[in-house]
Amino acid sequence: MPVFFEFLLIACLIYLWESALWLPKQGIALRRGWFGKKWRVIPAGRLLATRELGLVPMLPIPPDLRLLPCPGFPLVSHDSGKIFIETTAGGFLETSANCWYDFRLETHHLSVDYLSVRCQSPRLTELLREGKNLGLDPHKAIRRAWNLALSPARAKREMKRWSIVSRPLRFYGPILACGFFAAIPTAYLTLGPMAALWLAAWLWCLMIATAIHLLWLGKNVFPSARSEFRQDAFLSVLIPFHAMRALELASVHVFAQTHPAGVLVTVGEINHPWLRGFARRLLHPRPSNLGDLALSETALPSLKLILDKRSFALKQFDHAPDRSNDLEAVAYCPRCHGMFLSGTETCSDCGGLALRGFQ
Ligand SMILES: [Zn+2]
Repeated sequence: MPVFFEFLLIACLIYLWESALWLPKQGIALRRGWFGKKWRVIPAGRLLATRELGLVPMLPIPPDLRLLPCPGFPLVSHDSGKIFIETTAGGFLETSANCWYDFRLETHHLSVDYLSVRCQSPRLTELLREGKNLGLDPHKAIRRAWNLALSPARAKREMKRWSIVSRPLRFYGPILACGFFAAIPTAYLTLGPMAALWLAAWLWCLMIATAIHLLWLGKNVFPSARSEFRQDAFLSVLIPFHAMRALELASVHVFAQTHPAGVLVTVGEINHPWLRGFARRLLHPRPSNLGDLALSETALPSLKLILDKRSFALKQFDHAPDRSNDLEAVAYCPRCHGMFLSGTETCSDCGGLALRGFQ
């Protein structure tokens, strides 16, 4: 294989590596495709995962404009004041924390007591820091963080702000991709090496412009993730493929304080299957599972409020599943919508939750 094509193959592999978001395993991303109208939920790590992080692939050709990595908030609090932390498997573990001395708000981790969870961005821990600075105790600060994360008005503001401040990156990425994968090889094969070098130099100026824009975003728009934006800017100057995906890579910080439920309500997807499933988890916590109960107590009032404002009753999510493919089923689990034949009274997948009969 000629050296030129070997180089192109390696370039494609590096580009694919850069076309991946690594999110905390418990996180998800929402995406609307180029031509689709529906929002899809992509769990982190369905294709590839490490101990803490899961991969979310981007669409191969930039820009992947409607990719929103929204993690949710990894702490919940029980009405008794007990605090629970999310695990990589998605459940919640009890901590013995009761004051701010038990919390460590690090750049990539949030540690409570002796337990720790990976954070998508420093902006996530900023929500807690704000609560602490307002003089709230951890219990109230967690409830405040959930209120803010679930707010559709806030999600709408974040989406609008990102659409305005990221505008140049929407053009730089596709131009860089076309330049490196199409224009440079064409110039090399038809006009010779010097033409390809001049074109590469011009594209490098575009990479520098991408880096300058990232530095500006970190300094002026998302100051709590400033060092992350600085790191992305540095890599964008050196690695063309990083600059091509700068828009999507930066979105990890942009939507770190936004819950998927807030986004789905904002974009008018109140009846989205993921949102219905999330609401059922809140309405039907697993018996004897204090973590589930704490999640329900923390998030349910805010979710109810935002749905009430849109004249949508939370009870509409609490319906029976469609049993047209399983006519022999006589009961269903109100949480996971598993269907059962007669003789079963509880759902073993949901910790022994009592079943409901079909009407
Ligand atoms: Zn179940």
